[in-house]
Amino acid sequence: MLSSFYKERRKIDMSKNDCIFCKIIEGKLPSSKVYEDDDVVAFLDISQTTVGHTLVVSKAHYDNFLTAPKEIMHKVMDVAQRIGQAQIMMLGAKGVNILSNVNEEAGQSVKHFHVHVIPRYISGEGFQITMKDNPKANELSLPTLAEEIKRGL
Ligand code: AMP
Ligand code: ZN
Repeated sequence: MLSSFYKERRKIDMSKNDCIFCKIIEGKLPSSKVYEDDDVVAFLDISQTTVGHTLVVSKAHYDNFLTAPKEIMHKVMDVAQRIGQAQIMMLGAKGVNILSNVNEEAGQSVKHFHVHVIPRYISGEGFQITMKDNPKANELSLPTLAEEIKRGL
């Protein structure tokens, strides 16, 4: 019992020690900071998809949007909204994409909860989300699918 507790602890500590965003938050790695309070930090993405691409990050380590406590998720989204407004006001962006990837299958590469705020100037530049009609996914009945999701709420 005790040993499995310590194994679990070690796993958690390991993931935090390896986490690039934890290192930025602890000041062990540099970042171009845009915003900071007790719970949230925002800095420029090192790989600028468009000019001003910003990451809004919880200060505490949670794996992703779905596992962060609601209160923290709300605080991060509040800052994401303000950053998007500032990108339009100050950078002349015409639009903004707000995106949080959850798990590798969805493109998450850093396992620390963050939200991308990507300013858009010209449609199609740098970043594009394409939602294709998928015949396989459309084989399933929508009312049945809706019921399945509802049962999980
Ligand atoms: P995701 O793929 O959704 O997990 O997004 C992670 C993002 O973190 C990517 O867009 C990376 O470019 C960005 N990133 C990785 N390392 C750093 C870093 N040291 N400073 C700023 N952004 C980073
Ligand atoms: Zn972390």
